[in-house]
Amino acid sequence: FKNIKISSLQGAFAEHQVMLKKVNVKNKIVVVLVRTQEDLEKCDALIIPGGESTTIALLARLAGVLEPLREFAKTKPIWGTCAGAILLAQSVENAKKGGQELLSAMSVTVARNGWGSQVESFEAPLEVEGLRESQRPFHGIFIRAPVVISLNPSPVDPPLAIISRISASLLPSTQTLVPLDEDDTDPRDSRTIVALKQGRHLLTTFHPELTKDYRFHEYFITECVLPSLV
Ligand code: GLN
Repeated sequence: FKNIKISSLQGAFAEHQVMLKKVNVKNKIVVVLVRTQEDLEKCDALIIPGGESTTIALLARLAGVLEPLREFAKTKPIWGTCAGAILLAQSVENAKKGGQELLSAMSVTVARNGWGSQVESFEAPLEVEGLRESQRPFHGIFIRAPVVISLNPSPVDPPLAIISRISASLLPSTQTLVPLDEDDTDPRDSRTIVALKQGRHLLTTFHPELTKDYRFHEYFITECVLPSLV
C-alpha cells in the first residue's frame, strides 16, 4: 500500500504530526513540511494549521507556492484548522488591511477573528457527525477563531456537509445571532457551524491538534485522504 504524505505549512506542524502518528490505518503516514512547490508535489494531502492567515498566505506567496496550492486544492485533500480554514474559504470578512489571499477551495465565507475582540478564545464540547465514538463529545479549542458567515453552495461544486455546530447557547455573548434571510436554505444560523466538509476538503474553525483526541485526524485520513487515493 501507499504512503500517505501529508504536508503542513508553517504553524502547528509538530502537533499535527504527533496526532497523525496515532491514526491507525494500513498506509504509512509521512509528514513533511512544505516549503517549495517540489515539496508540495510529493504530497497526497495537506494540512494548513492555525497561525495567522495573512502571514501564511504571504509566506506562501513569497515561497512561490500560492498558485501551486490553488492547483493542489483542485485535486487533493486539504484540511484547514482555524487560520487554515480562512485560507480554504472563498471569501473573507474582517481581513487585515492590504487584503487576504485565499485558496478559494470551499464555497464558504468566513469572518476572520469573528468571535469579537473581547472573546479571544474559549472551549466548548462539540458533537461531530461521522467521528468514531461520535456520542463522545470532541473538545473544541477556539483561539481567535474565524466564524462561518455564509455557505455559498453552487451546483458545480460538491455539496457542503455540516459535520459540527456549536450549540447556540454556548456562543460567546459578544457574538449575537441575527435571524436568517427568508431565502436562506440553512435552517439555522451558519455562525454556529464549526466543522464542514466539502468533497475532499475539511474545515475546522477550532484546533483539534491541541487536544489529545486524534479522532479528527482519523476522520481526515479516512473520509478525505483515503478516498482520494483510489
Ligand atoms: N485569528 C487568526 C487569523 O486571522 C487565526 C487564529 C488561529 O489560527 N488560532 O489568521
